[in-house]
Amino acid sequence: MVDEHIRSSQTPDILPSYWYNILPDLPEPIPPMRLGTGEIVKPEMLEKLFTHTVVKQEFSMERYISIPSDLRKTYLEIGRPTPLLRAKRLEEYLNTPARIYYKYEGVTPTGSHKVNTALAQAYYASREGIDRLTTETGAGQWGSALSLAGSMFGLKITVYMVRISYLQKPYRKTVMELYGAEIYPSPSDKTEIGRKILLENPDHPGSLGIAISEAIWDAIHSENTKYSLGSVLNHVLLHQTVIGLEAKKQLEEIGVYPDIVIGCVGGGSNFAGISYPFIRDKLKESSNIRFIAVEPEAAPSMTKGEYRYDFGDSAGLTPLIKMYTLGYKYIPPPIHAGGLRYHGLAPSLSILVKHGIVEPRAYTQKQIFEAGKLFARTEGIIPAPESAHAVKAVIDEAIKAREENKEKIILFNLSGHGLLDLKGYRDFLDGKI
Ligand SMILES: *Cc1c(COP(=O)(O)O)cnc(C)c1O
Repeated sequence: MVDEHIRSSQTPDILPSYWYNILPDLPEPIPPMRLGTGEIVKPEMLEKLFTHTVVKQEFSMERYISIPSDLRKTYLEIGRPTPLLRAKRLEEYLNTPARIYYKYEGVTPTGSHKVNTALAQAYYASREGIDRLTTETGAGQWGSALSLAGSMFGLKITVYMVRISYLQKPYRKTVMELYGAEIYPSPSDKTEIGRKILLENPDHPGSLGIAISEAIWDAIHSENTKYSLGSVLNHVLLHQTVIGLEAKKQLEEIGVYPDIVIGCVGGGSNFAGISYPFIRDKLKESSNIRFIAVEPEAAPSMTKGEYRYDFGDSAGLTPLIKMYTLGYKYIPPPIHAGGLRYHGLAPSLSILVKHGIVEPRAYTQKQIFEAGKLFARTEGIIPAPESAHAVKAVIDEAIKAREENKEKIILFNLSGHGLLDLKGYRDFLDGKI
């Protein structure tokens, strides 16, 4: 217990030695992945794309999966366990009886939660003798994290970066290149898919879906190369549960249990990371705890999408997965929260939304930048535009708690800092948003 619980302890024993796999606890099983023909995808088929270990984890029904000790050491090296902080000044500003706690994932070297799975995936690839990993990146957070992980585990990394982000966020490219990765703006002339799109529109802004297609195409057409995904799939969400497992221990130390858990959602990995260990409690003991998942109005897969089979990428190279989707051809408008510009949603999270266990919510860019500014002024941290979606929901819930005069405990995930996303804040301050 530290200083009136403003900051929790961060001793190495807070870092768990296992991840939590929600699959055996879901209210209904995840429908199987299918090929376009309707055939059910077998694990061996996915091994063309992904490493053997992550494919095994993708289908695993074991509730707890142990974190290899070498990987656990690397987690400690990059700053895990991350701090759990109390947003006391924000509470005071809002004059709310609610207590607001947040897990701060911005302390990692690349500034977001994405390293949690990047390190795991690079670790397994290096153990399996893979030379190179390809991937896509939107805002650049995932590309940076995988580039770092590649440098730590001796792998080459190729990143297809959504063109609009490549242009808006040149510093992200610098970060990735410093770690030794090669970066291409997507659509690129490196793949057949990219070349075809560029022919139709040389100024195409790109999308996560297109970049995924290019990274997959590259991996399939290269030797000893695998593809790595930063969200959506079960194994990615699994790796992110270190966030919630740590938070749970840190809250236990100060004798607190949340009434509301909040996170922003692109594909769903950081939200799953903070919430799944608590959702386990709800599924087991049916408590009153609420879970709020926040997305941008520009990519409203949960609030406006349909629950059906769809492709994960724009070219239709991935298997069909059952999820909330806006349709694989949907290109979200170029908002600044690039990490949330995705048409689909993780299958496990889709089931939780469908069963009403997770409440979806959407906000506009203006709303989230206002929330981000207030958080910076009160708490000192400039949230990533993605994370500012969660902050906005936190503020709304804290105000509601004031109106109802209820002493709610709110926990949220501050998935990353916004110091490399200042273009968005600049436009906001200039009144362009
Ligand atoms: C990528 C990213 C997100 C969105 O991805 P999820 O898989 O939904 O977590 C959210 N916040 C930050 C800071 C990101 O980098």
